[in-house]
Amino acid sequence: MKCPKCSAGMESVTFQDVQVDRCTKCQGIFFDAREHIALKDIKGSEAIDTGDAATGRKMDKKANVTCPRCSTKMVQVADVDQHHIVLDACPSCLGVFFDAGEFRDFKVYSFADYLKGLFRHNPGK
Ligand SMILES: [Zn+2]
Ligand SMILES: [Zn+2]
Repeated sequence: MKCPKCSAGMESVTFQDVQVDRCTKCQGIFFDAREHIALKDIKGSEAIDTGDAATGRKMDKKANVTCPRCSTKMVQVADVDQHHIVLDACPSCLGVFFDAGEFRDFKVYSFADYLKGLFRHNPGK
């Protein structure tokens, strides 16, 4: 599999039975359908996002990329909760590409949200 952003090779990375593909150069990560949702809920999963966020921001500007899984043209979509995170999603196989640093960012929100949820359930504290 080749990286949709920089065309370098991608390597399989497994975290708690969820296998994703990470670019060996720009460190962007390709998730198959819903894998990023599954991984977001697993503690410590941000460890798979080893890349430099500065590189990720540079790669984020590269639009009109092709899905590494099925070669369909990917579309840029803003994350529903965090509009500043723009992902490349495949309308065919539903795979999603996160540039370096974006998965860590995506995951932080879920932790903040979790704390807010706790607060709501403990109004006395
Ligand atoms: Zn790459
Ligand atoms: Zn696809």
